[in-house]
Amino acid sequence: MKPWENNIRKVVPYVPGEQPKEKDIIKLNTNENPYPPSPKVLGVKQELERLRFYPDPVAKDLVDAIANYHGISSEQVFVGVGSDDVLAMSFLTFFNSEKPIFFPDITYSFYDVWADLYRIPYETKALNDDFQLVASDYYAANGGVIFPNPNAPTGLAADLDFVRDVLDHNQDVIVIVDEAYVDFGGESALSLIDEYENLLVVRTYSKSRSMAGMRIGYAMGNPALIKAINDVKYSFNSYTMSYPSIVMGVASIEDDVYFKEMVAKVVATREWFETELTRLGFTYPKSGANFVFASHKTVPAKEIFEAAREAKIYVRYFNKPRIDNHLRISIGTDEEMQTLVKFLEEFLNTKDN
Ligand code: PMP
Repeated sequence: MKPWENNIRKVVPYVPGEQPKEKDIIKLNTNENPYPPSPKVLGVKQELERLRFYPDPVAKDLVDAIANYHGISSEQVFVGVGSDDVLAMSFLTFFNSEKPIFFPDITYSFYDVWADLYRIPYETKALNDDFQLVASDYYAANGGVIFPNPNAPTGLAADLDFVRDVLDHNQDVIVIVDEAYVDFGGESALSLIDEYENLLVVRTYSKSRSMAGMRIGYAMGNPALIKAINDVKYSFNSYTMSYPSIVMGVASIEDDVYFKEMVAKVVATREWFETELTRLGFTYPKSGANFVFASHKTVPAKEIFEAAREAKIYVRYFNKPRIDNHLRISIGTDEEMQTLVKFLEEFLNTKDN
């Protein structure tokens, strides 16, 4: 090893799900929305001429639109380039203690990557056998707490009593609730931000707003938290929000009718798909998200994953302890899910289960 190599910050990066190039694939592996964004987003006239200007560094129009939508003040909103950016900035800003931060052992696999990157000590807390978070695990002294609600990749939502319980036992650290999937069936902690100054609620446009490709995420919390994270962000890169993301982000949030319709469609498909999974011999925690985390009673997940891939249906498989017999299946259109069910039926029939 060369001496200078000791001076390189080394990290094992997060590995996102595959983004296959072929067009004829049924893509149920990265929790995207199967429907297009609001027609209002697609109808935004891109005044390309304006791209020669730097965008508004404070993304005021987008911050105001989000604040207005949620009935909070603009000082309570931070915007970023997808919730990954918001979360990365939050780790840097709010997890600054010698004590370990706490998060679940089975959760969004970016959390330990950011902790490693920023040298934040952390401890994971095991989900119980039903994949639920256990509030008392989060009572001990720590440097901060983060969990998704609904959790990923389990899809299981915790109720507000759980969130309150964690907050009540963690008054002197920042508690971050990652609500990437909340629109599909979780109970939001947004109603608690005035009551708990140390609560940060993080959301994304990538799932329920069908805008993963645009990269918009945001955080809501006490103005002191929002100022702190903005100070860090502006010390990093002033112009993170592009001009198209600002104008299209506003257009999306202003079209609530379309938003609600598309979310309801995904939820209805999920409910139908869950009953089909039961019929086919799968078990799964009741999903509050736009995916289902399923395990078959006899056929190993890895075999199903590989066979589905051969059949050009991509789902997500995690080769990790405790979850290596599960598949995380994103909810697609009715037609896509029917094709998947037909494939599963045929494949499982070839096994004598
Ligand atoms: N949080 C959770 C729990 C997620 O599953 C994801 C999606 N990978 C994200 C945050 C990040 O999503 P995005 O950066 O697209 O907003």
